[in-house]
Amino acid sequence: MGNCSENRRSVPELFGSAVFNDDVMMERLPKDVYRSLRKTIDEGKELDLTVANAVASAMKDWAVEMGATHYTHWFQPLNGITAEKHDSFISPTSDGRVIMQFSGKELIKGEPDASSFPSGGLRATFEARGYTAWDPTSYAFVKGDSLYIPTAFCSYSGEVLDKKTPLLRSMEALSTQAVRLLRLLGDQKTQQVITTVGPEQEYFLIDKELYQQRPDLMFTGRTLFGSRAPKGQELEDHYYGAIKPKVAEFMRDLDRELWKLGVLAKTKHNEVAPAQHELAPIFTTTNIACDHNQLTMEVMKNVADRHGLVCLLHEKPFAGVNGSGKHNNWSLSTDSGRNLLDPGKRPWENLPFLLILAAVVKGVDEYQDLLRISVASAGNDHRLGANEAPPAIISMFLGDELTSILEAIEQGRPYECMEEKKLETGVRVLPDFNKDNTDRNRTSPFAFTGNKFEFRSLGSAISIACPNIMLNTVVAEELRQFSEKLEGAQDLPAAVKALVRQTVAEHKRIIFNGDGYSEEWVQEAQRRGLLNLRTTVDALPRYLDQKNVQLFLRHRIYTEAEMEARYETIMEEYVKTLNIESLTMGGMVRREIFPAVSGYLSTLAQTVEAKRRVRADLPCQAEIKLLESLSTLLDQAYGQAEELDSLLKAPQAESRNVLTAATHYRDLVIPAMERLRATVDEMERSMSARQWPYPGYAKLMFSI
Ligand code: ADP
Ligand code: MG
Repeated sequence: MGNCSENRRSVPELFGSAVFNDDVMMERLPKDVYRSLRKTIDEGKELDLTVANAVASAMKDWAVEMGATHYTHWFQPLNGITAEKHDSFISPTSDGRVIMQFSGKELIKGEPDASSFPSGGLRATFEARGYTAWDPTSYAFVKGDSLYIPTAFCSYSGEVLDKKTPLLRSMEALSTQAVRLLRLLGDQKTQQVITTVGPEQEYFLIDKELYQQRPDLMFTGRTLFGSRAPKGQELEDHYYGAIKPKVAEFMRDLDRELWKLGVLAKTKHNEVAPAQHELAPIFTTTNIACDHNQLTMEVMKNVADRHGLVCLLHEKPFAGVNGSGKHNNWSLSTDSGRNLLDPGKRPWENLPFLLILAAVVKGVDEYQDLLRISVASAGNDHRLGANEAPPAIISMFLGDELTSILEAIEQGRPYECMEEKKLETGVRVLPDFNKDNTDRNRTSPFAFTGNKFEFRSLGSAISIACPNIMLNTVVAEELRQFSEKLEGAQDLPAAVKALVRQTVAEHKRIIFNGDGYSEEWVQEAQRRGLLNLRTTVDALPRYLDQKNVQLFLRHRIYTEAEMEARYETIMEEYVKTLNIESLTMGGMVRREIFPAVSGYLSTLAQTVEAKRRVRADLPCQAEIKLLESLSTLLDQAYGQAEELDSLLKAPQAESRNVLTAATHYRDLVIPAMERLRATVDEMERSMSARQWPYPGYAKLMFSI
């Protein structure tokens, strides 16, 4: 893909070449227009229409030079992916020709029909019309034939219908509260505090031809059947292993596509499971990170397609090997670029750091439910709560040094700095290192990793908007409470220490530095009173608890109606996902698996007969045993498919109450799916590989 000259372009030349970024703006906009736009971007000043007209016109000229014929307001509805509708720039002239036009109004505002996007009932009460509004803090870009304008999406009467608006609001809420606290601590300079995110994205790559032979992969993104291959990830030979040429070509192409779009793709490596890989970008402002992660997922799929591959973003494409997650690395920095989660050399004296750390500890403890909910989906339930990283119980890892600092503060004794440890390599030509005091713990859902927190519970397929909305709002709330307590304090440093001490004492139960996978931790967490919300259905109803509604109302992130809408949407999506999976299973069993096994049985029976005709006492024990066991299994599978079918038709499955329906799916449908799968997988193990209708796990995971 791409022509030769493009392949030869240096990375700095390539980077951002399809983006209407600051450089392009400076070059193409009149000085005063540029300055007004910058003010809008940096300070949130409203954009007036004359400025918008000038920006639109320059944007259009630039996009047309890049080969664009259309523009689209690109937005992020509640279904977690992105939406786009394309309008061409053409405008007729009186002499029957067309010119290319784009106005400020068209740039600022769009009016897509909102009626076919999930709105969780908001639509019924409000108008179908929707508006998209330009988010000038995220640059426009050209992809394919279109100029993409990142936008927020709301209904005619102002209800928020997307994930971007609340994300932007939560960033503002956090900034307001963080600046307020910094002022108290004597910082008169900082005007804005920005949350930054670097999401690491895991994915699987499989062969396109094999993919197309599996309806489960095509309809649901995961294998609904499939017996384990003799080899999985147990040899630990894939993680960081040498990248195969075909995969390397894909990754190279992917990087270049992403760089063109201004995405800071940085790290690539093989992951734990066979056929699993990861891409990590350099962190950036949260809303941009969110846009870029959406683009990354989309570009991954497109580039894979060009390479004869399919990129699977599902959280659990294969049973028996690791699923895919997305680590949300999160921090806060001031407008001058100071990372507020950087402990510095003397963290125990770093008051802003200690307060923000304490706020995160308190927030994660008080709002465990929200963090769990922010990553809830049918797909991610296969990871959380199952025997895989990380557990459904939300806890925090702080590492030895921070934990001892907090302990010292709690006990009111001076902290003795941990010695700087040298890492001695013992080889002359290799340098010795200073050891980083923040150790790693791979099992924790929420880990402090040096100068940021890494929230690891996200599934690979979800938008990072929701987890960040929760995090930002929760921390904003804790900082608000801290400011209220500290305002008017006589001796500020003493008041801060006291506040940190009290917070640690009250919330240290959320801190856990041990093995999050162990059965002991489940017991221990229960003793500590931590939540263990294993499934989406367990977690989601808590979204509407008064404390959570109050939180979002106070910081003006959502109205109560908007929260109810989100609750409905997520529950509905859970039910729909499982419904599609069940229907797909039924179809596969009846239309392909049954005929295949039945055909094989008939071959076996014919063999027995033929053998007996040759000589009555020729041994046929193997055929007969196989006939018996496969016939039993086939009957069983058929019965289980019928049972699954009837569960889908049960009145609870179609209840208008989403909780009733979702509970039915969790308690009855999922176990029925698992039973059917177990039977089918057992048949696969004794069937002729050539007559099994689907490529098996070994081929899917090891053929590239
Ligand atoms: P690991 O696999 O050890 O967790 P990676 O290098 O794969 O580390 O990913 C770390 C991620 O954290 C990167 O995306 C990086 O940009 C991001 N990151 C680093 N510093 C910050 C920060 N201050 N705020 C947000 N994200 C950060
Ligand atoms: Mg990583």
